Amino acid sequence: MRRMRCVKIVATLGPASNDHATIRALFEAGADVFRLNMSHGSHADIAARHAIVRQVEAETGKPIAILADLQGPKLRVGAFASGATELEEGNRFRLDLDPAPGESHRVCLPHPEIFAALEPGSTLLVNDGKIRLRVEECGPEFAETTVMVGGTISDRKGVNVPDVVLPVAALSEKDKADLDFACELGVEWLALSFVQRAADVTEARERAAGRALLIAKIEKPSALTEFDEILAAADGIMIARGDLGVELPVESVPPIQKRLIRKARSAAKPVIVATQMLESMITSPMPTRAEVSDVATAIYEGADAVMLSAESAAGNYPIDAVSTMDRVARQVESDPTYRDIIVASRVMQRSSVADGIVAAAREIAETTDIRAICCFTESGHTVNLVARERPSVPIIALTSVPGVARRLCLIWGTHTVITDEPVSRFKEAVLSAVRAARRDGFAESEHQIVVTAGLPFNVPGSTNILRVAPCEERLIFRSDPE
Ligand code: PGA
Ligand code: MN
Repeated sequence: MRRMRCVKIVATLGPASNDHATIRALFEAGADVFRLNMSHGSHADIAARHAIVRQVEAETGKPIAILADLQGPKLRVGAFASGATELEEGNRFRLDLDPAPGESHRVCLPHPEIFAALEPGSTLLVNDGKIRLRVEECGPEFAETTVMVGGTISDRKGVNVPDVVLPVAALSEKDKADLDFACELGVEWLALSFVQRAADVTEARERAAGRALLIAKIEKPSALTEFDEILAAADGIMIARGDLGVELPVESVPPIQKRLIRKARSAAKPVIVATQMLESMITSPMPTRAEVSDVATAIYEGADAVMLSAESAAGNYPIDAVSTMDRVARQVESDPTYRDIIVASRVMQRSSVADGIVAAAREIAETTDIRAICCFTESGHTVNLVARERPSVPIIALTSVPGVARRLCLIWGTHTVITDEPVSRFKEAVLSAVRAARRDGFAESEHQIVVTAGLPFNVPGSTNILRVAPCEERLIFRSDPE
């Protein structure tokens, strides 16, 4: 089974996609990566969803990646005596550490570290940025604010503090427990919310201890200031447009998206575009024209993946949302303008033998009638390099390590295959690539493929060999002396 597109689809699981039939249908409709949102649901719910994804993987024989998204230092107000209150523009509103229920002039904000970081003039945003408060006076246990934009504030609404680098740890106690839990279940990717600095990624990496790769979610202004360092520290990024559009003016999100996709592509690290991509499909079977255009734009920009949040986790049309993304992707990728844009935005990077090999592989594939670039990889690294070339033919990643096959499901243009055992001779590798390409519908016996590998075999990061191979086994034996 193969996908007929390069961009990948990440589908978040939730109450609307809890059962085997729905998760299987999401996979068949096109989901390549499933996201477990640690902000919602108990560990038992998460474990059940995880087990179903692995079951679907076993049934279909196709590797599937699982991404666990950690909540991060998300700030929330406490509860109100009556559940909610109205804030009126111009009035005063106090935030403090008193756990007593809130009312019209105060509420608890149970985060002492925030009060320490605020200054008169700082802005606090509540409820997805709908309410705006300006700090007038503050101390270690309170902040007196003026309501700049009013609205209804209710129990445990989220608070964003855009213009302050918060002195909070990257991982809360909940995040640490969730990270350990997810790694014990076995996930390929961990997403870190509200990353502020590269050290946040490093801290999570120490705790993950090689059990999963790390996606830094870019949703804070400070993550943009330190973006290059964060990208260097992470294995991939997510453009988390929900919180980003709260912390910064919404109109700044599109240019940021363009810039970050370019940077991630040039670093050969996957980039996910997330949030509100098909928002109206939470309640409607049809997307808006603007949403279709938004998904298409991310694909034209060369993102590795587009993501569904509530559309697949809590909406009424989770499967339609995935198949809409799939259809948009196939339409965009068959547009000649798409190739022009992808080629024009390709970044040439030539500093290692592997860079040269993958560039040559693309060059050969695009010069002659080659059906796929097949890469033997132990760590997945070579596949990231081939994907950076954004070749016009599919990439087939072959690895004996199931975890590597799964994590590569997030990478642009990559079809992953788990080989039965590590190959020890190049001819075996070529045969195994030919069989995979034919079995999965990429090539027929009259076609040719390009195969890359590293000799000696099974040493990560050693790609140094390239072969153009016929897809007829008889010819492989005839043309290859050993
Ligand atoms: P979230 O992250 O859905 O976990 O908040 C994505 C975003 O903020 O866009
Ligand atoms: Mn977010």
